[in-house]
Amino acid sequence: MRPLFAATAIPSPGGLPWWLWLALAGLLGALYYVAECAWWPFAPCRKCEGRGKFQPKERRVWRRCRRCKGSGTRLRFGRRIWNRFAKVRRAAS
Ligand SMILES: [Zn+2]
Repeated sequence: MRPLFAATAIPSPGGLPWWLWLALAGLLGALYYVAECAWWPFAPCRKCEGRGKFQPKERRVWRRCRRCKGSGTRLRFGRRIWNRFAKVRRAAS
């Protein structure tokens, strides 16, 4: 059994320090998220679960979801940041 807090004792492959691998993994994860946001900027709406409408419990009628305006999708958090940056870039040029 290896002690839990012996982080510096972990053998590092390729001679690189363990924290560099950790940073690389984090960077890869961030890149993956950015790529995913660029590829598929929409996620199913949380309120209507992607249906675009929902049924209030006390009534029988279906109402159009106000949060996604009936589309059933919402813009992802990463994509919103992306859009904000794009707007700033447009304003700067
Ligand atoms: Zn919705």
